[in-house]
Order: sequence, then structure tokens, then C-alpha cells
Amino acid sequence: MQQEIEHIHCLIIGSGPAGYTAAIYAARADMKPVVYTGIVPGGQLTQTTEVDNFPGYPQGITGPVMMEDLRVQAERFGTQVRFGYATKVDFSTDGGIHTVEIDGNKTVTADTVIIATGATAKWLGLPSEEKYNGFGVSACAVCDGFFFKGQDVAIVGAGDTAAEEATYLAKLCNKVHMLVRRDEFRASKAMVHRVLNTPNIEVHYNSETEEIVGDGQVVTGVKVKNNETNESKVLDVTGFFVAIGHKPNTELFNGILDMDETGYLITKPNATATNIPGVFACGDVQDNIYRQAITAAGTGCMAALEAERYLASKI
Ligand code: NDP
Repeated sequence: MQQEIEHIHCLIIGSGPAGYTAAIYAARADMKPVVYTGIVPGGQLTQTTEVDNFPGYPQGITGPVMMEDLRVQAERFGTQVRFGYATKVDFSTDGGIHTVEIDGNKTVTADTVIIATGATAKWLGLPSEEKYNGFGVSACAVCDGFFFKGQDVAIVGAGDTAAEEATYLAKLCNKVHMLVRRDEFRASKAMVHRVLNTPNIEVHYNSETEEIVGDGQVVTGVKVKNNETNESKVLDVTGFFVAIGHKPNTELFNGILDMDETGYLITKPNATATNIPGVFACGDVQDNIYRQAITAAGTGCMAALEAERYLASKI
């Protein structure tokens, strides 16, 4: 029996702040959006605790509750939110109908596709890192640094993100230990200069994280090994920040959409349009600089408005 193929005006892949904001705008514009949530409905924010920097929540909110609110808001205007994972795409290069396979067994076609598949923070892979994630361990200094005001923290990484986050933390924290695994930074000269000229950042070169130390509830320190001398020491910190890069979730679009050398989707300047007409990208999947819920939501709004204009231009 032939499979029935569903046609959708506006297909949104991903359910973080970018995807749900795109859905709110698309639904209000009567584009009858369908969101496929991906494996983690709600995205990265469902794995964080307090969110204190999203405007509109004066008392803060937890990541999972905020994402639930966004889902409900998107559904209020008629968005269909479905659990499912895009497994294959076939984008029409001349702006025709785009085809997306869901969960390997369902095919949908769409006039417009909004990609909001996000990015995944890279972790060291230590069991203690996982154990204390959310209890002193974080992959986002801008999100969680505030909770460590006046305290001593450590950050691992030596790229631009780590350098930027270390200087951010230095403004809030008493002391920032920066753990660099080689004898040099990867970050740009300007960023390194800023780190080295911040008095309360101590850089530990040739230093690898062996273990996050805790009291069973929260982080109390980090065990660090010098890979030249093989000596280990424990630094007393209450916060441990991982800033060793992010991986955009773009494998599905390899060879189809334009990407930079690290896999982030390239969109047109000041826009969310990709190299394929009718396909838009928003949120962390196309942003390796800001990576905030609010910026993701902003580009989600842009993607829906651009998709709406694109559809209107085809009538
Ligand atoms: P990068 O990939 O540039 O850097 C990752 C860093 O983490 C490297 O220093 C790497 O060390 C280190 N690292 C990786 N794995 C481990 C590990 N297991 N243990 C210890 N250290 C580890 O990622 P970023 O997120 O910093 O930057 C991504 C891109 O975004 C870059 O192109 C960057 O320039 C850009 N960016 C730009 C910003 C801006 O313009 N304001 C701000 C932030 C990012 P090693 O050097 O030894 O490989």
C-alpha cells in the first residue's frame, strides 16, 4: 500500500526557543506550522536549572518550565507539536516542495522549512561531570555564572568561548582558574590578551581535568593533573564550567546546506535564509557567537517572518 504523504505549509524542525518562537509567529500568521520536536523536546534548556536572564520572568524560571510555557504558547495559536526526529531531507533547489522524512518511516512535504535543531555542548565525558551537572557543573557561564557570585570557580577550555566566558566570570567571581590542556591558547590574540590582563584569572597551562570533586550534593573542587610533570592537585572551587566547544546539530544537512568549517549553517546577512529558497535556519544551529535563549528566540521570529514573506511572494 502506498504511504500517504502529508503536506505542510511551514515545517519546523526542533523545539528549543528558536523553534517554538518561530511556531508562535508562524501560527499567528495562519501558516499552520508543525513542529517536530527532535529527541529532546524543549532542547538544551530542558537540561538546565534556573534561567534568570530571559526577559519577562522577574523571579527567574527553570529551563524545563520555560520550554513548557513556550510549547503551550505555540499550541494556543494552532501549532501542532509532534514528537519525532527528522531523519532525511530532500530540499528542492528551485524553491519547490521540500521533502522531509520523519523517524525513518513517515514522509512529509513542506512549502517552507525552518531549521531550529540547535547545538550540543561538548563535555569532557567524566562521570563526576555528569553527576554534578546542574549542581556546580555548567556549560554556560552567561547562564549560570551569577549563581557563583563572589566564589572561586574553574573553567576548562582555551578557545574564544572559554576566554570570553572566563572574563565574564571574572567580573562576578572572586577567582577564576582557567584550565588549558596545552601550553598555549587556541583563542584569538585579543581574547588571550584580555584573559592574561584580568588579575583574578589564573591560567593553568598543560592542565587536564581528572575529576570534579564534590560532597555528594554539590561541587567542592576540581582535581587537575599537569600533563608535563604528572602531578595532580585539587583546586577548591564551587563552580566548574566546561567551554570546550559546541557541535551544531547539522549532520542531516551535510552536502545540502551551506555550512562553515565547524558545521554551523550559514544564513544570509541579517537574515535566516539559507542557500536554498524556502529553507530558513534559526537559533544555535546558525549562531556560534551568542548562543542565548533570547537570541535564539529572536532569530526564530525572523525565520517565521521571512517564511511568511517567502510564501506570500509565491502566490
Ligand atoms: P574551539 O573549538 O575554538 O575551542 C575549543 C577549546 O577547547 C580548545 O582550546 C581545545 O583545546 C579545548 N578542548 C577541547 N576538548 C578539550 C578537552 N577534552 N579538555 C580540555 N580542553 C579541551 O571552540 P569555541 O567554542 O571556543 O569556539 C568555536 C568557534 O566560535 C570558534 O571559531 C571561535 O572563534 C568562535 N567564537 C567566536 C567568538 C567571538 O567572536 N566573540 C566567541 C566565541 C566563539 P586545544 O586548543 O588544545 O584543541
